[in-house]
Amino acid sequence: MKTKTGGFGRRSFAGALALVAAAALAMLLGAGATMAQDPAEPPGGAPTPQMLPRPSGKIDRASVDENSLRETIDELVACGTRDSFSSWTDPKRGIGCGRDRVVARFEEIAKESGGRMQVVVDKFETQLPRTGEKLHLENVYAILPGSDPALQKTVFMTSGHFDSRPSDTNDANADAPGADDDGSGAAVSIESARLLAKGTYRATLLFAAVSGEEQGLLGAQEMLKYLQTHDYTIGGFLNNDIVGADSAPGGPHRVRLFSGGGPDGVDSPSRELACATEEIDGRDNVRMIFREDRLGRGGDHMPFVAAGLPATRFTEPQEDYDHQHQTPRTENGVEYGDFAKFLDYKFMGNVAWDNAEPLRELAIAPAPPSEVTVTHVPQSAMGYAWMRWSAPDDPERAGFEILWRETTEPRWSVYEFVPSGKEATLDGVSPDNHLFAIRTVGKNGARSLAVPAIAPMRRPPTGTQSAPPGGK
Ligand SMILES: [Zn+2]
Repeated sequence: MKTKTGGFGRRSFAGALALVAAAALAMLLGAGATMAQDPAEPPGGAPTPQMLPRPSGKIDRASVDENSLRETIDELVACGTRDSFSSWTDPKRGIGCGRDRVVARFEEIAKESGGRMQVVVDKFETQLPRTGEKLHLENVYAILPGSDPALQKTVFMTSGHFDSRPSDTNDANADAPGADDDGSGAAVSIESARLLAKGTYRATLLFAAVSGEEQGLLGAQEMLKYLQTHDYTIGGFLNNDIVGADSAPGGPHRVRLFSGGGPDGVDSPSRELACATEEIDGRDNVRMIFREDRLGRGGDHMPFVAAGLPATRFTEPQEDYDHQHQTPRTENGVEYGDFAKFLDYKFMGNVAWDNAEPLRELAIAPAPPSEVTVTHVPQSAMGYAWMRWSAPDDPERAGFEILWRETTEPRWSVYEFVPSGKEATLDGVSPDNHLFAIRTVGKNGARSLAVPAIAPMRRPPTGTQSAPPGGK
């Protein structure tokens, strides 16, 4: 028994030695580059695509007016509370005071647009989701119509909510300064309008400040309804909520950009908007987070996401819960309350730029392609990728970029540029091993959002094998 055990012990030791030797051999083989590899796709290496430079006329960061952001927030805070249950008619205290400040700011900016920008106060009656209680609310939209008849019913938009709340959201009387949540988002929307008011864009731009966020995203739901009623296509929606402070030590930090994935957890319109935003703003400025919102929480982009539209959320790097949703007070030496003194206007100015520049570039881009599919080239032994898409005629379009990536990668790369046509074969590339998308490129270098390629609808067999075998 003893010997036997010892015997096992020796064999185990020998086995361990063999494993070590095998690992060492594998390392040597790795160094010698004779490890197993994947087949090259395409065998001769990917093409070097022609890349049009990005559009000129980038917004100068120095043109962001941090004082204007500060003034907007000070004016909103001076309304005492902007709780959605507070007064809409008192000009000095309550949410109506907040609305007046927002309207005045937008109207000032509209003058700089040469009368093109329209300021709309959208008044509506809604119901509280839990109790069904009726509630009067108002949103403010500044709309800069697009110059291209083919694109002016497409809208790219930014928003913040101008309502605020104390600890008890039903308390219409307590102070609720709401400097960060979400005076900052409203101020960023207003500053984006100021930065873009003088320009001309093919698509329409909309700058919003909505109410009822704290009661269940009621203003955002109304805004979606308003846009649908007015036959707008939502090209992209950047929601800004709590974007005014960079309180974590060791700053400056990047603003977070939240986007949810599609049904497979990967691609979605919102994810494409996030990736386009990051590409335009730069990875130094934006931290993409691949979830719809902060864990278990929500915001005004969500009704748009639920409708299958591209909508994302900007939020500061690290929230401070002592400074949001708190009735101002001091307890045990801790100061609670959402005050302007906790804000960082340089950070907020960066966020305004992070909104305005993507809105500018997306609104001068051609319409994105539609009906983008990828399948195997029929009857090709290797099953190469065959992409097809649709796009309306557009004299301002330079062509299409075919995008691809490994299925494990988060970001697209440009595989090839195609000046015209509505299909392309990717010789030597299997559609099984990569994900694909198409985006349009304007002669001005502006790119549309990418549209991921999906497999075309499978049709029942017709007798002749004109497509690669399905199943299995
Ligand atoms: Zn908020």
